[in-house]
Amino acid sequence: MSRTHSSVAIIGSGPAGLTAAVYAARANLAPVVFAGHLYGGQLMLTTEVENYPGFPQGIMGPELMENFRLQAERFGAVLHFVDVTKVDFSQQPFRLWTEDDEFSADTVIVATGASARWLDVPHEARLRGRGVSTCATCDGAFFREKHIVVVGGGDSAMEEALFLTRFGKKVTVIHRRASFRASKIMADRVLAHDKIDVIWNSEVTEVLGAEKTEGLGLRNIETGETSTIDADALFIAIGHDPNTAMFQGQLDLDPMGYISSPDGVTTNIPGVFVAGDVFDVRYKQAITAAGSGCKAALEVEKYLEAHEAEHASALV
Ligand code: NAP
Repeated sequence: MSRTHSSVAIIGSGPAGLTAAVYAARANLAPVVFAGHLYGGQLMLTTEVENYPGFPQGIMGPELMENFRLQAERFGAVLHFVDVTKVDFSQQPFRLWTEDDEFSADTVIVATGASARWLDVPHEARLRGRGVSTCATCDGAFFREKHIVVVGGGDSAMEEALFLTRFGKKVTVIHRRASFRASKIMADRVLAHDKIDVIWNSEVTEVLGAEKTEGLGLRNIETGETSTIDADALFIAIGHDPNTAMFQGQLDLDPMGYISSPDGVTTNIPGVFVAGDVFDVRYKQAITAAGSGCKAALEVEKYLEAHEAEHASALV
């Protein structure tokens, strides 16, 4: 097993990780990016991105991430398309393992993101980007005057349903119980909205449609009765899971498993920084993730400079 050292290791290759890579590379820090087997993050699962500034005609999610990657590589970032399997942040230099190799780094930027939960029902994966989505902000505008379904009963589902009333001719919320988990104020707004209907005690059993979403199979959980409804879009808002399993016991996590960061960039371990959805429960946008990647790289630069100065004065 070989071991390679770098001044900065970036774990994750979504907008946060790759923006951090661009900034760290331009600061001559030769960052090593652990991009994962599935590089690019959640935008690789999106079709057209219309709200990333700089692309007035919109851009496809995978193409945008390819541009991020090329920009980072242009300035010398080295990408490894492997997953980090284990880290040890208990001593300097920090250590990181992939399946075949071991690495060490003076600083680490954790940008492993969060994964939207999916329903895991037939044809959901096939129709992703063709009516099935986990991001109303990204995809809502494609369904003007259409019938839009939202699944979920938490604040995210309420927020998405309310947002989607701007586009859809009708929005139907499907929830598996008879009351919402969401805060009362959000739930009340949904219940009072004249464009929104709610189907209670029901689950989506399959997505229907050949080329695009055309309907949904439903099952009433109480009665077991099955039915279908017509739908042009299905927005799944049943929560996200932060990708933090390997940091348990190493970094402070909040009760939902997100990395705790009082200022949105540092962690409880000096020299380990955070960027993007892995700490950001609230905004979860590509542009906010990119911004936080930039912040993390600038903090890494300051941290390394301060430590170099400390080291130099210790040698005098
Ligand atoms: P959440 O509160 O965990 O709610 C997830 C919802 O999805 C629940 O209603 C749950 O049903 C349902 N669900 C989970 N798995 C499901 C499955 N397999 N099939 C069908 N339904 C399923 O998640 P969230 O709404 O993403 O919110 C996460 C956190 O962010 C919360 O603390 C929330 O308050 C906060 N947040 C706040 C705002 C705001 O204040 N504006 C906006 C968004 C999020 P059950 O209820 O039956 O468990």
